[in-house]
Amino acid sequence: MNGEIITIGRELLMGEIVDTNASYFAQELANAGVTVRWSSQVGDDLEHLHEAINRALNRSQVIITSGGLGPTSDDLSREAVANVLGEDLTVDQEMVAWIEGVFRERGIDKMPSTNIKQAHIIPSAEFLPNPGGTAPGWWVKRDGSHIFMTPGPPREIKRMWNNHIGPAVRQMTGAGVVHTRILRTVGMTEGGIDEVLGDLFGTENPYLGIYAHVDGIQLRIISRAATDAEANALIEPLEAEIRSRIGPAIWGADDDSAATRLGELLVDAGITLGVVDSGTGGMLASLLSQATGHERWFRGSMITGPGGAPLATPLLESMLGGPAGRTTGMVSEAAARQMAVNARQLMGAELGIGITPPSSEDDEQMKGTIFVGLASSTGQKVLRGRFYQSPDRALPRAAMFVLTEAARAIAGDEV
Ligand code: AMP
Ligand code: MG
Repeated sequence: MNGEIITIGRELLMGEIVDTNASYFAQELANAGVTVRWSSQVGDDLEHLHEAINRALNRSQVIITSGGLGPTSDDLSREAVANVLGEDLTVDQEMVAWIEGVFRERGIDKMPSTNIKQAHIIPSAEFLPNPGGTAPGWWVKRDGSHIFMTPGPPREIKRMWNNHIGPAVRQMTGAGVVHTRILRTVGMTEGGIDEVLGDLFGTENPYLGIYAHVDGIQLRIISRAATDAEANALIEPLEAEIRSRIGPAIWGADDDSAATRLGELLVDAGITLGVVDSGTGGMLASLLSQATGHERWFRGSMITGPGGAPLATPLLESMLGGPAGRTTGMVSEAAARQMAVNARQLMGAELGIGITPPSSEDDEQMKGTIFVGLASSTGQKVLRGRFYQSPDRALPRAAMFVLTEAARAIAGDEV
């Protein structure tokens, strides 16, 4: 079955955004058993869209478009398909009511009249629900070809693929189901994992892949089978084997987030968390604030620049509870420990985390080193990490390091 992808938008042709939708659909279509033979980008221009869609209908059975389903006059994808098929656009009243409902949920009583455009449809098409936005997709059938039209935002197309397009395409190709299991590790390098698991790589089904990710090395098991049960049965023994070899390094699976997992451990232990952070520029607080249920256990974070760590001014000094750090140097175990103790006091939390600023560029050996102190009423621990990439990569990595290592320490009763 031939596949074709058409991504639509002038901003793509101007190089203003990267066409991640094309690569997303290319991967998903391949997984679903469709051979993608053409992928093109077209501007918001009726004539050019007409040409691209017409050509695709003549040579491809599965055509996916993205973009141009917005409410404004430069969103022309619907018109282009209607033109190619020679069909008239009419308003679907049920869809109008649905879009009005989306606006009400967002606290807007009156739907802008331009959004009526998104409720238009042609006889050969049915709507594809879009749970993430106001633009429904279309599924158009014509002479053995299928056009799936999706909006532009990457988050929305993924849900539409997973819920509707993917299952429909798999049914057409007989590809069956694909199951993926992600195992998330911390504390091991890619090479280190390869040493222990090397003999497990290289098979087709189940397939085992290894990827470096900001939260650690990920192992991905992918299986294909006719049914869910068979796909699971392919994954389970391999997962068990991996866990038996590197179990302690695995901190989560699938969509687990490091911050949510840390939160679960804190809830289990019945304790709350406070942070004094000079090492991640607030990235840690940002990740913690995104964790499910964080309001139950995250007391807060004080974010200080290197000059404020641990105690730069008398006010900060009194807020943080003492003159520690002044004499011990900012990037040291002692400073991290004191910052953690101060974090408990400052935030009124049972567990404190203190993160020193990274060592400066001047010292080649130490450059990018941070110390992370953990302090509870019963124990203290200091960790050391080194993140010497540019700040845009180093800060999130440092924050992820703190999350995963703090979770490890709590799970191991080390603090
Ligand atoms: P549109 O539905 O064409 O109005 O697109 C809405 C937004 O989705 C755009 O402003 C982009 O941010 C994003 N977007 C559109 N097409 C793509 C694409 N091919 N890849 C990644 N993002 C896209
Ligand atoms: Mg657009």
